[in-house]
This record gives sequence, C-alpha cells and structure tokens, in this order.
Amino acid sequence: MTGGLSGVAVVTGAAGGIGAEIARSLVAAETPVALLDRDVLALWELAAELDSTGVRVIAVATDVTDSGDVDSAVAKVEVELGPIEYLVNAAGVLRSGQAAQLTDEEWDTTFAVNAGGVFHMSRAVARVMVPRGSGSIVTVASNAAATPRMSMSAYAASKAASAMFTKCLGLELAAHGIRCNVVAPGSTRTPMLTALQGDAAERASIEGVPDAYRVGIPLRRIAEPSHIADAVLFLLSERASHITMHDLTVDGGAALGA
Ligand code: NAD
Repeated sequence: MTGGLSGVAVVTGAAGGIGAEIARSLVAAETPVALLDRDVLALWELAAELDSTGVRVIAVATDVTDSGDVDSAVAKVEVELGPIEYLVNAAGVLRSGQAAQLTDEEWDTTFAVNAGGVFHMSRAVARVMVPRGSGSIVTVASNAAATPRMSMSAYAASKAASAMFTKCLGLELAAHGIRCNVVAPGSTRTPMLTALQGDAAERASIEGVPDAYRVGIPLRRIAEPSHIADAVLFLLSERASHITMHDLTVDGGAALGA
C-alpha cells in the first residue's frame, strides 16, 4: 500500500486539468488507473505519458452522460485492471451566463454531465463495490455549490446536486464499508478556467469583484490542479478511513469557509 492506497482507480474527466493531475498523483502512488473521458485524443496522450511509469493505466473513451457507455466502461475496467476500489468523478462542464438568458441546451447539458454523469458513474461503481464491501468515491464539485455566483446558476445548481447525491450515496453505502466524499475546488488553473477568464479576470478573482459580490481569494492565488489532487487522494485513501459524507473545500478561502 502506497500513501494509504491499494487497488484499482477510475478517474472521469481524466483528460482535463484536474482529472489528469489526479491520475498522475494516483500513478505516482503506484495505483493502477483507468482514465475515462470523452476527449479521446487528450486521453490517449495522457495514457502515453503515464505508460513509461510501469504502473498499469488504461484509457477508456466514455461519455458520462450515457449510462450504457458508463456501464460498459466499468465492466471493461473490471476485466482489464481488476476490482475497482476507487472512483473519482471529475468530468464537468461550465456554461456561464445570466440565468434569464440561459438556453434549455445550456441548462440540460450542464446537468447531464455534472449531475447525471456523477449519478451514472457512481451507480455503476457502487454495484460492483457493494458485494465486495469496500471502496471509496470522491466527487469533484465546486465551492459554487454552496456560495451563489453571478452567471453560474446552472453550474452551481448542478454541482449542489452532485454534492448532495454523493453524500446521500455515502449514507446508503456506509454499512457496506464504502466511503463517499466531495472535494469542492475554487478557481483552479485548468482549461475550464482559461476558457472563462484571461489574465485580467484572474487578477480580479484574486482581488475580488465588489460588483459581482465576490470577495476574492484570501490566500491570494489561483489553485493549481495539484492542490485539488492532494485533497482527493487524501479522501480516497486509508488515511481518511473514518471520513465519509464530508465536503472538503479547496479554494484558498474564497467562500470564507462556507
Ligand atoms: P477541464 O475542462 O480541464 O476538464 C473537464 C474534463 O471533463 C474534460 O477533459 C472534458 O472532456 C471532460 N468531460 C466533459 N464532459 C464529459 C462527458 N460528457 N463525458 C466524459 N468526459 C467529459 O476542467 P477542470 O478544471 O479540470 O475541471 C474538473 C472538475 O473540477 C470539473 O467537474 C469542474 O466542474 C470542477 N471544478 C473546476 C474548477 C476550476 O476552476 N477549474 C473550479 C471548481 C470545480
């Protein structure tokens, strides 16, 4: 057991900034990892990067909004890597815009990925974990799930849904020896953040934006993906063996501890 981890891990959104860093950290802890994402090219690039480590890594192109796709991916991982012990739900999308201007498509897509994807993946993995009586699930939500943000209504609502789903699942699975926790990042340097803001907007995130009721980031920096990965690996691991249904915010204090 390395770093309190022993068993096979599945990471969704593995081609993204945070998911890829979580996968790298798991591999560094000698944990076999299945990389799941719908971005096939980026997925294969990461798999090739991790191939040289000698730790077993497979890439499985998966759309988490499609429950059939998810069920097939989980079955494939169990056959190719072995029993799944860890799941990290990191796939996500952000559609920003004032609530009154959001389209049906923006709302539906946001919920299909951020809430539906977490449901599909967690359900499929719970079904194989329960008979074995062991496992640990971490959902990457957002500090926006608990703190209202301008132009993020769909995103924040979908993250609140995924966080509460994960905690309810944790309650149901606790008797089976399975823990379910949430990590809630604030602004983190990844393609999702870059798409949302440039340098000026990054400074504004740190300084605060009074007109948008944002107080800024007390620790005065944007998070790196490794800050989020550290929290996820801790909650997955045996070091967190008495922690379940917890929501760990990693945002430099931006939500003032809410
Ligand atoms: P990212 O855009 O870099 O990565 C997201 C990944 O999810 C991408 O690789 C994308 O292809 C994948 N994905 C999207 N839809 C999918 C689908 N239907 N099926 C499978 N994969 C799909 O974003 P990130 O910053 O790495 O975000 C990772 C998680 O962290 C997300 O859930 C995001 O909401 C959350 N988060 C990010 C920030 C931030 O500031 N970056 C802050 C709070 C929470």
